[in-house]
Amino acid sequence: MSFRAAVVVGLFAVGALVIAQEPKKEPEKKEAKRYKSGDMSRPRPRVIDPGTATPADHPGKPPSDAVVLFDGTGLKEEWTHGGKDIEIKWKVENGYAEVKGGNLQTRRKFGDSQVHIEWATPKEVKGNGQGRGNSGVYLGGFSEVQVLDSFQNDTYPDGQAAALYGRFPPLVNASRKPGEWQVYDIIAQLPKVEDGKVTRPGRITVLHNGVLVHHAVEFPGRFGEFNILLQDHGNPVRYRNIWARKLGEYDDGTPPPEPKKK
Ligand code: MG
Repeated sequence: MSFRAAVVVGLFAVGALVIAQEPKKEPEKKEAKRYKSGDMSRPRPRVIDPGTATPADHPGKPPSDAVVLFDGTGLKEEWTHGGKDIEIKWKVENGYAEVKGGNLQTRRKFGDSQVHIEWATPKEVKGNGQGRGNSGVYLGGFSEVQVLDSFQNDTYPDGQAAALYGRFPPLVNASRKPGEWQVYDIIAQLPKVEDGKVTRPGRITVLHNGVLVHHAVEFPGRFGEFNILLQDHGNPVRYRNIWARKLGEYDDGTPPPEPKKK
């Protein structure tokens, strides 16, 4: 080894020692940077393809930053029965999945999210009240967002379609007819926990067929990330076009452009 090479190797060794001995830094608390109104140094919101909304006769296209959980072709990559790697019993055909043989839950967990779910109760009406097209969407510590045929089908209000089951009826009954595709857009925010205390309860907002039915309803308790679960209540309810996306924070976008050099 030449003298020069030995010096280089030596410097690397000293460098590695310094890095190895550096004490572990506590993760810094992220303070939101304050920007003045009209500040051009502010990060630009991330650019996404918004996809398309869902028309009545076919599924829409998810936004480009969504995790697609069911695109009509298969379930086993994203879903399980009870977290177990067993064969999925739900029937997948013609771009939809039909309830059969147990609840389905996502393999992934989600935090603060926007969840989009399309569903249809059977066209052929059978049963009454809670027995007609019953299924549901569970997001961890929040109440079940009830799926039910609530088109001219009376039941207890906090158990009808789009109810936060057992707690709040929807603000309006925006149900479509049996067999028609319906849409839930759910915005879920986990409880905010600081120094072991809940400083802001979990919140949930729900739109049913584009209509606001719950707005920032607060849920007490401390709960964390959730698997999305679709209920098997013994009725052949269908699902399609399921996706979720992270809510994100203000100013988490792309850095502002470099100032022009003079
Ligand atoms: Mg249900």
